[in-house]
Amino acid sequence: MDERLRQELVNWLEFYRELGIEEFYLGGTGTPACAEGTRRSATPLPASRDGRLVESAPSGGAPHRPVQGGAPPAPATKSALTETKPVVSPTVPLPLPRAGASQTTVVAAPIRPPAPSLSLFETPPPKPSGPETLEQVRADLGDCHRCKLAGGRHTIVFGEGNPHAELVFVGEGPGADEDEQGRPFVGRAGQLLNRMIQMIDMKREEVYICNVVKCRPPGNRTPEKDEIETCSPFLFRQLEAMKPRLICCLGAPAVRTVLGIKEGITKIHGQFYDFATSKALATVHPAYVLRSPREEKILREDFEKIREFLKGK
Ligand code: URA
Repeated sequence: MDERLRQELVNWLEFYRELGIEEFYLGGTGTPACAEGTRRSATPLPASRDGRLVESAPSGGAPHRPVQGGAPPAPATKSALTETKPVVSPTVPLPLPRAGASQTTVVAAPIRPPAPSLSLFETPPPKPSGPETLEQVRADLGDCHRCKLAGGRHTIVFGEGNPHAELVFVGEGPGADEDEQGRPFVGRAGQLLNRMIQMIDMKREEVYICNVVKCRPPGNRTPEKDEIETCSPFLFRQLEAMKPRLICCLGAPAVRTVLGIKEGITKIHGQFYDFATSKALATVHPAYVLRSPREEKILREDFEKIREFLKGK
């Protein structure tokens, strides 16, 4: 430390000692408390690259899972209907683990805003009661510019349909037609989806349809990891608001985001998983079927499973 500065500090500390404020001293004259306190700390908290304190998430090696309030995902349970996979709860997902990363994930600790100070006679503001509505989630999304997809989009495609739907479809992201109209699945893939919905004697207005990302990726490319991480909390909030009986994930990005499953969709399609209080089923994306018409069989079979599931109360 600069000698002049050190001397100034010593003078201040002497002054405080004369006033009887001893707590400033932890290690003798000339040693400021903060410096000493740092040295004394038995297990100093590590710092992230940006200097924020970090903490370790509980170990357990869970794949990418949405977690409730930072809690670890619940263990897998078996569905009464058929084999059931992991239980997950919506809200904010943990970052995707990197290939080969150790099981302990280091996450940046949230920066807490200062607690509002209340006077003795003030009561705390009431907490919002009950779950969020879709309108509230949409309002919070606003004119979103949280990720780079905002720059290329024409319209945000939030989702549409029955807010009390028993069945919710989750696609990948808007295409050109959806971006133009601000509605999900209105292009060719949407027409195939409509046919499948009709096949199981349902109407499009009865279900709810949304996507993992709400803005069109340029050239209809697959949404990137950072875009999914930014946008998927809104999807989880939509699902939490609706609590549907069944979530149908259309295509790999939806399966990966909602269920954290990286296995090929042709392997895991048609199985029922637990997602919070809902069940979830994965199937092939209608756009994939348009490219590989032979695979329409998979889509039909899975939609028959959806029909059977919804029949059972
Ligand atoms: N594909 C999707 O994944 N979502 C849409 O809304 C349209 C096409």
